[in-house]
Amino acid sequence: MAVLSGPRHLDGSLGAAAGSDQPGSGEPADLVIANGRLVLPTGVVEASVAVRAGRIERIQPAGSNLPARRLLDARGRHVMPGLIDSHVHFRTPGLTHKEDWRHGSRAAVAGGVTTVIDMPNTVPPLFDPARAAAKAALIEGSSLVDFRFHLGVDPQRPDLLDTVTPREAVSAKVFMAGHHTAPHVVRDAAQLERIFRIAARSGLRLVLHAEDDRVFALLDRWRPGPSSYADYEPMRPRSGGIVAAATVIDLVERAGTATHVLHVSSAEEADLYAAAAASGLPITFEVTGHHLSFSDHDMLRLGSRIRLSPAIRQPADRERLWTAVFSGQAGTLGSDHAPHLQAEKCRPPAEAPPGLPGIQELASAVFTGMRRRRPDQPVDEQVALLARLGATAPADLFGLGGRKGRIEVGGDADFVIFDSRATWSLGASRVQSKCGWSAYEGWLFTGRADLTIRAGEVVHDAATGEFGAPSGRWLAAEPMAGPVPVPAGGGRPPDRVGVRR
Ligand SMILES: [Zn+2]
Repeated sequence: MAVLSGPRHLDGSLGAAAGSDQPGSGEPADLVIANGRLVLPTGVVEASVAVRAGRIERIQPAGSNLPARRLLDARGRHVMPGLIDSHVHFRTPGLTHKEDWRHGSRAAVAGGVTTVIDMPNTVPPLFDPARAAAKAALIEGSSLVDFRFHLGVDPQRPDLLDTVTPREAVSAKVFMAGHHTAPHVVRDAAQLERIFRIAARSGLRLVLHAEDDRVFALLDRWRPGPSSYADYEPMRPRSGGIVAAATVIDLVERAGTATHVLHVSSAEEADLYAAAAASGLPITFEVTGHHLSFSDHDMLRLGSRIRLSPAIRQPADRERLWTAVFSGQAGTLGSDHAPHLQAEKCRPPAEAPPGLPGIQELASAVFTGMRRRRPDQPVDEQVALLARLGATAPADLFGLGGRKGRIEVGGDADFVIFDSRATWSLGASRVQSKCGWSAYEGWLFTGRADLTIRAGEVVHDAATGEFGAPSGRWLAAEPMAGPVPVPAGGGRPPDRVGVRR
């Protein structure tokens, strides 16, 4: 890979690396990314960043002479912190015919993501915290991205949550409704309350699939299953999410559990969770790329490709979720990358499993939606918003804030060099997920991850299509480097790995 072997401009031309013979410059850095529009916590500035031993060593104004062994000229591009996708299903172990870590992490870096947090609904599920290290060992050597895990909650043994150490997990996933790969549903109200109380005591953040399974069971007994794609949304209607929101808000009020609600799909849920957060409850919520990109109108064209759980809803819901993104009500962006084989998706409507691949498309799909909706908003502001919701916020929520999610001295040297002007489309041959298809095939995207860098090494180069070494690490608790982040606008301090609240 040319970019790994020496100094090079992003356009492919060789750049003149500043030598170590400059007076007073000291040892050359391992890597300098020069003259990009750096997306810093304080704003977007034209600057250069120097990397040593996988960490950010210095940030200097553009044009500074920073001696480097490798120089990347990012002129005209944005340099964002590497994105953190806190909602992926890489299907390891047990479901690797759909996706595996090698393909999933390729899709991640192709989309500018350098860290993922994987979901526990595998076969077997990750219920037992003691098994986290074994899962990490399975992945080691095949991951282009750094990773953590959300622990699963065994409805039969919620007390396991009491034994979790921050090394094993900082968060636990609860399914309040089930689907094909999530059979472990907590339906019992007393059991759910117990889980909220144990999590609050253990300092674990709960991440929720918050739809009420009893609502769906009631409706399922009353009417036949879906016989066409158009039935998907009405089969899993918004009432499931709204009823669950009432339960969740009540439990958080009583137990005080830090709670992150995944893949909010309707306008009503967005209103309820935003209002709950504004009232001071420790509730945040995630918006996915697909709920921002599609509506039920797309169902007739895309069929089971956008059969999702929660379902894709109406255009007005999609636009309400966009308001949550632009206004800062949304806590994080996630892909909910959950691939299935085409053959599985082609089953009759009732049996086609919900889920789609989405990590490769996430940043570009969201940026495209921003540009379309607010073409007059400055590009810098929109890239900064993408960085905040796609990197900084998930880092802070899930205990990675001391080393990831921001470009700051001492932090991990994870970056995505993003071309906000690039337009491109995704064909099936460029899909990196093992499943080999995308619901976004044929879309014209605005904005592309040109180069993805993890720990100072290029892990994907869009120009050549080449990938780096699969040396991603399990981000188990270790001493944090860098300054302690302070959340914008006050509020609860962010969780830190190794620190119990
Ligand atoms: Zn999911």
